[in-house]
Amino acid sequence: MTEQTPTMPADHRELISDLSGIVCDYPNGDPEDSLSILAYDAREVLDHVDTPEGRRERAGYTVLLHATCWYVAARLFSKAMYTSYTKALEGFRATLDPANCTCPDGSHPKDGDPEYSVGVGVSLLTEAGRAEFVEDYGIDDEELAAYDCEGFLADLADEAAARIREAYEENFGDIDVSHLDARYVRDGGGIDVVALQKAVRHSSEGNTGPVALWSARRWLSGQVRDEDRLGLFLSLWMGIDQSYAGLPPSYARDMAAAVDTIGLEVSCDHQRHPWSTAEKTVESRYRAVIHLYAPEDHPDTPVPADLASRERWECPVQYAELARSAKKNLEGWRVMRGGGEEDWEV
Ligand SMILES: [Zn+2]
Ligand SMILES: [Zn+2]
Repeated sequence: MTEQTPTMPADHRELISDLSGIVCDYPNGDPEDSLSILAYDAREVLDHVDTPEGRRERAGYTVLLHATCWYVAARLFSKAMYTSYTKALEGFRATLDPANCTCPDGSHPKDGDPEYSVGVGVSLLTEAGRAEFVEDYGIDDEELAAYDCEGFLADLADEAAARIREAYEENFGDIDVSHLDARYVRDGGGIDVVALQKAVRHSSEGNTGPVALWSARRWLSGQVRDEDRLGLFLSLWMGIDQSYAGLPPSYARDMAAAVDTIGLEVSCDHQRHPWSTAEKTVESRYRAVIHLYAPEDHPDTPVPADLASRERWECPVQYAELARSAKKNLEGWRVMRGGGEEDWEV
């Protein structure tokens, strides 16, 4: 850097570091706070977007909102955040006319990785940051001007707003899992607990959330034969327990409602319950349940014979233990993923 090059403000360097951590999925602080402030600051620009300073900031914030929108969509389940992003993006979009683009074909900046885009976005906010960007990356004036092009920025704003809209539907809307009836309900109305278990244990295949949600809805519908209740509830419980990263309210709401049907004020004379004897691994628990529902096909079980009576399996105290741990997990998702109480309610 030459002595003449002005440098970007120190708080902008912090902003780069903070936002880089977020887009790399390793936030240093509270990502919800940082991104709320980002969206708020972006909206402030709308008041003076017709000034040179405003136009610089519009470009910078559009790039930043675009770079961070994947994180908002995938990691934060907060309606207020989605509203804030949408207002900023739509506000910018209303000031941008793609017809003003005079760039040669294919000369708009390419979509870089989000960490790079964060550096670019923050640099664009100020004259000093831009000078530093030009110097550090050796780009020319024409390349820099492309970042201010209304056609380029309109595309970014549209893309990010669409992403946030879709995420709102996925995370807060109604997820239809009724097609799973055909897979898990047998002729005659019984539930195929073994098939349910096979599906729920493979979280890598994206089955766990939908299958657990289906289990919750079936439970709430009351269309469950007595002998299937335990298998259905355990499938729901395992789906919750295995969703380490947390599921959004569109899933969690009905799961919580199903868990809430379990009475917690119960007691019994048992020393131990069968579920506590299975190891805390997906495989061990899976073996315990499929043995219970298809002992001929699956003779192995981690549950000792003297604890395996159906009466112990069905004990209300065991249900209460399971419900307590499921509630704890559901509560953890809220804390981890943000949003207000009302975002998670039915
Ligand atoms: Zn252009
Ligand atoms: Zn008991």
